[in-house]
Amino acid sequence: MKLTKILNQGKLTLSFEVFPPKTNTVFESVKAATEKIAELKPSFVSVTYGAGGGTSKYTLEIAKNIKSRFGVPTLAHLTCISSTKATVGERISEIKAAGIENVMALRGDIPDGVDYAKDYTHAVELVSELRKSGDFCIGAACYPEVHPESKNSVEDIKYLKEKVDAGVDFLTTQMFFDNPLFYSFMYRIREAGITVPVLPGIMPITNAKQIERAIKLSGSFIPTRFSHLVDKFGNNPDAMKQAGIAYATDQIIDLYANGIKNIHVYTMNNPEVAEKILGNLSDIVGK
Ligand code: FAD
Repeated sequence: MKLTKILNQGKLTLSFEVFPPKTNTVFESVKAATEKIAELKPSFVSVTYGAGGGTSKYTLEIAKNIKSRFGVPTLAHLTCISSTKATVGERISEIKAAGIENVMALRGDIPDGVDYAKDYTHAVELVSELRKSGDFCIGAACYPEVHPESKNSVEDIKYLKEKVDAGVDFLTTQMFFDNPLFYSFMYRIREAGITVPVLPGIMPITNAKQIERAIKLSGSFIPTRFSHLVDKFGNNPDAMKQAGIAYATDQIIDLYANGIKNIHVYTMNNPEVAEKILGNLSDIVGK
């Protein structure tokens, strides 16, 4: 099923993100975790893609398995920055052959200090290619706190508009921990003429180490309310998990109360976290 159908239902949808293993040795355990997440019947599951292409075959295997065994719609991520046109063409054919209708078109991070294929410079090129290659529902990334390579938000939103105009059906945001930043981003992109659905990406932080990694990766602003929580519970794993899930739930409820209908959760292959968040929202999701 195309995700546009799900995203335009006008009810609260909750989707989950999983990531494939990097190596074959952990394939079965990662697959089992993604199956537990699929059993919860989220609105859809997105499966990330290793920018270097290392996990490319697992992305598709996991997406296919979730779709066929659990009937949950899937979104296969695809990156282009370190790939040749030929490799991307092959991946697109494989996605089509697997019956996956939804693709998240990403550039990927620029590899550090290694030589890489330079057939692509930005995600917009992949979006155009996907649009020409088949009848896909296409997603793309956006950054409420500005992509780290951008000079400012005006430039970032200008390029975002070009990417959407090339054929994007919906956007998913980088994680953020302060909802007003997202609301302000929404005003600015709507003013710039971007009208597609935007899914806020919520990352439940369940241990203190994760927060350091998350900030390094995304550069997200950490509100005092959240840093106090990490200070208080960071050394107590069970309490930190409970508090992190409560914080993410609170963000989701606030988003929904402010009119946001489709929300994406970075579940980090953790079925327990996914289940608890869904449980906290059991009388809200789908209503
Ligand atoms: P782009 O849209 O190309 O933007 C990158 C930068 O280039 C921005 O600063 C933008 O303003 C600028 N830009 C865009 N177009 C132009 C232009 N024409 N001229 C000049 N500048 C331009 N990474 C993975 O490796 N695998 C994944 O599965 C994955 N999933 C992700 C999912 C989400 C929801 C998000 C938010 C990120 C994900 N990433 C993933 C990370 C992503 O690959 C990186 O953030 C990457 O640095 C940018 O990718 P992009 O698709 O946003 O790039």
